[in-house]
Amino acid sequence: MSRSILIIVLVCLSTSTWADSTLIKNVRIFNGVDATLTPGHVLVEDGIISRISSDTIAVGEDADVIDGANRVLSPGFIDLHVHLTSHVPYDQIDAHGTVVGAVANDVARHFLDSGFTTVRDAGGTHPDLAKAIELGTVYGPRVFPSGAVLSQTGGHGDWRHASVPNPTLRGTNPYIHSDQAVIVDGVDQHLAAARENLRFGATQIKIMGGGGVMSDYDPIHSLQPSPEEIRAAVQAAGDFGTYVLAHAYTSEAVRRLVDNGVRCIEHGLLIDDATAKFVKKNDVVISTQLVVYRALKDLPGITETNLQKLAVVLEGQEKLIDLIKKYDITTGFATDLIGGMYPMLTREFTERAMYWTPAEVLVQATSESAEVIRMAGRLNRHGNFGEIREGWVADILLINGEPLEDISVLRDPENNLALIMKGGEIVKNLLSD
Ligand SMILES: [Zn+2]
Repeated sequence: MSRSILIIVLVCLSTSTWADSTLIKNVRIFNGVDATLTPGHVLVEDGIISRISSDTIAVGEDADVIDGANRVLSPGFIDLHVHLTSHVPYDQIDAHGTVVGAVANDVARHFLDSGFTTVRDAGGTHPDLAKAIELGTVYGPRVFPSGAVLSQTGGHGDWRHASVPNPTLRGTNPYIHSDQAVIVDGVDQHLAAARENLRFGATQIKIMGGGGVMSDYDPIHSLQPSPEEIRAAVQAAGDFGTYVLAHAYTSEAVRRLVDNGVRCIEHGLLIDDATAKFVKKNDVVISTQLVVYRALKDLPGITETNLQKLAVVLEGQEKLIDLIKKYDITTGFATDLIGGMYPMLTREFTERAMYWTPAEVLVQATSESAEVIRMAGRLNRHGNFGEIREGWVADILLINGEPLEDISVLRDPENNLALIMKGGEIVKNLLSD
């Protein structure tokens, strides 16, 4: 192809009528970073924010024009700790995989309709569900899946009943609970399971790195897995250009995980001051959650053991929040709701506002969470999102009310999210032109 023809083709591509453009005019922009609102207009072309201006933006006749009527425009929200496939009621946890998938469909819908355009699945959801959403087969947010959780035998992800024998020792299928967890012991199995997840399309790897609440046989103080096993998962993830996130509560567990290459700690409720400082020095994220710990005690089917463990970790929650603030540790926004608790999703906003300003909570739920998601490096095939910036993916919300003053408006997304746009596609619009 000659150079002149190539130029003509490129010009046609950039101006052709199939270019999908939407102008959102007359809005006050929260860019995801600054605690201010800037009046202006935003042009979206082919899924990308192509122009932000305080001056009127002229568009062609084929463009859709939406009058924001002075509403607040925000980046779409991001949740860093979601389990789309863990919402079968806890007292029906052995339900067949078809039920797990059917319920996950409702969960995915709820997240996107609540303004969450991206979620990081912190384990359990097969990467095929992320692909199905991407293809439009299933309605929901963009998903960064971790695949099956890696758990050692008797670890936090080993949800077998007491009498069920270890499948690996018997040479049978090591995946349990509709493939949501995989039982792995030893370096080789950690390498194989992490690589298997990556082969399926996981964008990061999740390991159970210490005792947990919702499992019956691992005390909270238990250390999981060995340093060599952690390094194996980190090696497999690193070889694909991504990272490992790990469930952990105690200082001892967090130190072992960070010392062996884990980049993101989930929960962290029992760490001490020195460990928080160590986490910050190593530039590691602590992704923690508020609502789930406060509501879990009422979950139908929760066992006495679970309740005792819950009481232990809950005691550390406020101290952890202080440490995150003291050392300015990256935390983002995360919920970890399970067992059908997903309708509580937006309560996380108001719960956080007891400790952070509304603007700080909104930064957590947009740019800060996006920063954590980008640790997936080249496995992120979705580009940059989480901020209102030219050239970035158009994940956009129009909000009724003043969320920077009163974040509780986000508790009612049905009425207060006037528009939801994911990757340039409008999935909800209460506004007429
Ligand atoms: Zn979780």
